[in-house]
Amino acid sequence: MAEKNLINQTAIVTGANSGIGEGVAIALGEAGANVIVNYVSNADAANEVVNKIKSFGSTAIAIWADVSKEDQVISMFQQTVEQFATVDILVNNAGLQRDAKFHEMTLAQWQLVIDVNLTGQFLCAREAIREFLRRGIVPERSVACGKIICMSSVHEIIPWSGHANYATSKGGIKMLMQSMAQEYGREKIRVNSICPGAIKTPINKSAWETPEAYNSLMTLIPYDRIGVPEDIGKLAVFLASDDSDYITGASIFIDGGMTVFEGFATGG
Ligand code: NAD
Repeated sequence: MAEKNLINQTAIVTGANSGIGEGVAIALGEAGANVIVNYVSNADAANEVVNKIKSFGSTAIAIWADVSKEDQVISMFQQTVEQFATVDILVNNAGLQRDAKFHEMTLAQWQLVIDVNLTGQFLCAREAIREFLRRGIVPERSVACGKIICMSSVHEIIPWSGHANYATSKGGIKMLMQSMAQEYGREKIRVNSICPGAIKTPINKSAWETPEAYNSLMTLIPYDRIGVPEDIGKLAVFLASDDSDYITGASIFIDGGMTVFEGFATGG
């Protein structure tokens, strides 16, 4: 059984009704946290995640909000504080792709990805930090005043042809995360990024759904398997807990070695 090291802490996980967000929400719930399962579409999937978390004896509710809309993000935090008195952990996970060759990319494709992946993280983190500062440290729950985990990507450092909007959003998250960690370290607010490589979720189905695609993907991954949301869930629990108390401003790569550049294994 998982260690219950997040008992009495309240976590908001954005985009928690699918893929990595779902895996993270379930892992935080299993570690004892009250979990807000944010979703923007497919309420049924969000309710399934809520029920799974409740099966561990933890509390969970689903809250609808588009993370790129300021009023909806503010409302999500207000509903959370009304129900659970505060927020201790934010996992900024919601994200999407709208891929196109750069010279064919529309402004709408560019803007949507920046709005959701980057501005959405700004809006949620700002509300979280406002609430952390209002509440202050509660030593019975955590030595930190609050924890923010930004879902970045290996593409915060690996350029990605055909995905300039996505890679730019993740590069932006790196600076957003580090600037927040720098600005609020003295208030004991910890801010870190998880940088996944290839994780088996709907966002990258075309990269793993056929044997040909999977084998091609494996040429990029020394550890020779695709990641699963549970891999990310375990890291999120660690980063949300006091076990990682001296870690802030860090990008933690969880990628089966993708960022050691397998292409150079035979000399480049
Ligand atoms: P996914 O498509 O399964 O999940 C994305 C989630 O974000 C969904 O729940 C979706 O509804 C939600 N979402 C999209 N727009 C939203 C909005 N405006 N407001 C609220 N929620 C919104 O994909 P995933 O792979 O689980 O992706 C989760 C995060 O992980 C993303 O930030 C993605 O960039 C990142 N990531 C994924 C991989 C991977 O290999 N799967 C690798 C690196 C980073």
